[in-house]
This record gives sequence, C-alpha cells and structure tokens, in this order.
Amino acid sequence: MTEQKQKICILGGGFGGLYTALRLSQMPWQGIPKPEITLIDQNDRFVFLPLLYELLTGELQTWEIAPPYTELLANKGIHFHQATVEGINIPDKQVRLGDNSELPYDRLVLALGGETPLTMAPGVADHALPFRTVNHAYQLAERLRVLEESDQDKIRVAIIGSGYSGVELACKLADRLGDRGRIRLVELSDTILRTSPEFNREAAQKALASRNVWLDLETGVEKITAEAIELNYKGRIDSIPVDIVLWTVGTQVASVIKSLPLTHNNRGQLTTTNTLQVLDHPEIYALGDIADCKDTNGQQIPTTAQAAFQQADYTGWNLWADLTGRPLLPFRYQNLGEMMTLGIDNATLAGLGITLEGNLAHVLRRLAYLYRMPTQEHQLKVGVSWIAKPLLDLVKR
Ligand SMILES: Cc1cc2nc3c(=O)[nH]c(=O)nc-3n(C[C@H](O)[C@H](O)[C@H](O)COP(=O)(O)OP(=O)(O)OC[C@H]3O[C@@H](n4cnc5c(N)ncnc54)[C@H](O)[C@@H]3O)c2cc1C
Repeated sequence: MTEQKQKICILGGGFGGLYTALRLSQMPWQGIPKPEITLIDQNDRFVFLPLLYELLTGELQTWEIAPPYTELLANKGIHFHQATVEGINIPDKQVRLGDNSELPYDRLVLALGGETPLTMAPGVADHALPFRTVNHAYQLAERLRVLEESDQDKIRVAIIGSGYSGVELACKLADRLGDRGRIRLVELSDTILRTSPEFNREAAQKALASRNVWLDLETGVEKITAEAIELNYKGRIDSIPVDIVLWTVGTQVASVIKSLPLTHNNRGQLTTTNTLQVLDHPEIYALGDIADCKDTNGQQIPTTAQAAFQQADYTGWNLWADLTGRPLLPFRYQNLGEMMTLGIDNATLAGLGITLEGNLAHVLRRLAYLYRMPTQEHQLKVGVSWIAKPLLDLVKR
C-alpha cells in the first residue's frame, strides 16, 4: 500500500513563513513520500521589511526588496497560493481562504505577522498612513511626489512613534526632502529608541539633530484631522498644521489569529513551546510576530525579522523531524544585535561586541541583509545590481 503524502500548510510568506518553506525544501525526505507543501499569502510577493525605507529615497527598487513568490519558489517543490486566510477550523484541520477554497492540512504553520493598530487616537485610521507594506511605501511616495511638485514652500511631516520605524523614516524623509522638509517626531516617553543599545540611540540622536528633525518627547496625540495634528504636552494641547502624518506605534495580532481557540497571551499572540508548537496542538507551529515564545534558555523572543528568521530554521527542521519520527530541537535564540538605517548611505549597528556608525555601517548593513535574502538566485541578482549601480553612476557622470 502506498503511504499518503502529508500536507503542510504555511500561512504567511514573511520572514517566518517563507523561510520555513525554503528550509523545508532543503530537507532530505527519505523513508516517507515528500510532503505536499503549500505557502499561502495575501500578496504575490515577499517583502524584506528592514529595507522598505529605501524605496522612499530611490536607493533600492521594488524588485530588489520584494521579489515575487513564484520566482523565489521556482523549482523548490513548494506550491504557492495567493489568497487571504479568513479562518481555520482546528478540529477538522482545514484552512478557509478568501477565494472560497478550503485547504486541508496535517501540519499547519502560522506566520501571519503583525498589523499596525489604527485605533489608538481619533482620526488615525482616516488621516494617518501606516508603514508596513510596499503599498504603504507607494502611498507615501505618491503623497510626497504631489507635494514636491506643488508650489508649497515647506512640506510638513509628523511621524508618530520614535521606535526603529519612526526614527528610520524621519532620517530618510529628511534626506529626501532636504531644506523643504519640516519633520517632527512625536514620542510619548522621554526618549527615542527606549529599548536600543546606547550606541545606536546616540547615533540616531545625532542623525536626527543634524537633519533638523524636531523632537516632541513626552507628547501624546489627542487627535488627527485632514490638516492638523493635536498634541498633548503635559496637559497643554497644541494644534499643528501638517501635510502628512505617519503612524508607526504598536503592533497587533490579526483577528483571524486572535479568534482561534488556542492559548494566547494578553496581546493576542499564540503561546508556543520552545519547539515552536502551539500549546496542546503539536500539529500547529507558530512563529514570528504572532508567537509568544521563550527559547530553551528562557529568553523571551522579540518580534523582529532576526528572530523570525532564526525560528524559521527550527520550524523547518522540526516539521521534518516530526514527520520522519526524529526528536524535535528546542529553539535557541542568538541575539546578533541591531542595525538601523539613518538616512541615505548612513547607518548604525551594535552587536556581537561591535559598534559602528556612518558609511561603513551602511555597507555592512547592506551586506548582512544581502546574506539574509531568501534564495541564492535572488542574492546573486541583487548583489550584482548593488555592485553595478555605482559603476553605472560613474559612467553616466
Ligand atoms: C518598516 C519595518 C521595518 C522593520 N525593520 C526591521 C529591522 O531592521 N530588523 C528587524 O529585525 N526587524 C524589523 N522589522 C520587524 C520585522 O519585519 C518583523 O518582526 C518580521 O517581519 C516578522 O516576521 P513574520 O513572518 O512574523 O511576519 P511578516 O514578515 O510580516 O510576514 C507576514 C506575512 O503574512 C501575510 N499575511 C498577513 N495576514 C494575512 C492573511 N490574513 N492572509 C494571507 N496572508 C496574510 C503578509 O502579507 C506577510 O507576507 C521591521 C518591520 C517593519 C514594518
């Protein structure tokens, strides 16, 4: 009798899901038939989010940071299905998709990532832009283009939240807009980058100051309207006219995950074991921004690309071990430090005992991300383009 092929269904093609799929494609399926592996994402392309800012300054192009899944998964033995996940029937092991199809699974990987909450102040959903997808970057670039082509003297941008995204956006926009830009960064606490290493925080403070980015610390947002933003500094309310408001505060788990009858923490993330399996459901794996996970040393895993990428390696391995009757590996997280882009050709990095800022940090950040690109084919194409671009620029001069 022929053994039935197991079905692995991976929901979400970001750092957690796509890299799990790619890891699975490398495993030696001996002794059992190779499982049917399906990756589902609502979009047609993966997005290398840490490089999304570079679309605003033209430093990088969409094809470099957002390659289509069909291209990445060609000849990898992984089926890609573009659809929105609408629900999961856990007792029947079925995924319900927005195109009215249902997908059965034997093993399920949940990697749907986070969303930016747009309900934290009145007017956010109607008048502020989040920054999390290629479409958000396009929307912002289009708003900037219209303002840049207008006869308006100054272009006023308010960025809410001074975590990584807020600070990185402020520096890139300041470089893009130059003297025409009036950029303010609004932060509820008394410092920017509260959780960052001191070195990166100081480098960021310097980069913001040298670009004349205005810092509103200890300031809350009362309301956003089409023309202005109302800020609350220690009880004093000021209304400030703005052209663009960017909202970068918070990450929430999508309702399709929150509504599952599984164990969640108070932020809606799924609680997992250190083998990245959901509690009481060893057939379901969860990783990335939707997972509340402590590694084998009891370290709480941060919601970063770096963590999702490392978890994907273990998830791929553990699925293979699970289906081939081998012991599963407990996840061990290695904090490699953090890197930030601070304007065109400028970055800071701190980790593994190294601290560096400026152009060299920018080059190292690019190389580190090139190394992390999803497939060797894509790495090669992007690497050649990065080497060729400065040479072509020289020839054009
Ligand atoms: C602008 C930005 C910059 C960042 N920079 C850094 C950085 O420099 N370093 C770092 O370590 N981390 C960074 N992060 C955080 C990092 O990108 C995330 O922690 C990481 O992407 C999490 O991986 P994930 O697989 O959980 O989710 P994601 O990579 O977000 O992938 C989730 C996938 O699920 C898909 N999806 C969601 N809902 C559905 C649905 N209902 N149906 C179908 N598909 C769905 C999405 O389209 C997406 O492809 C950044 C994040 C942002 C937004």
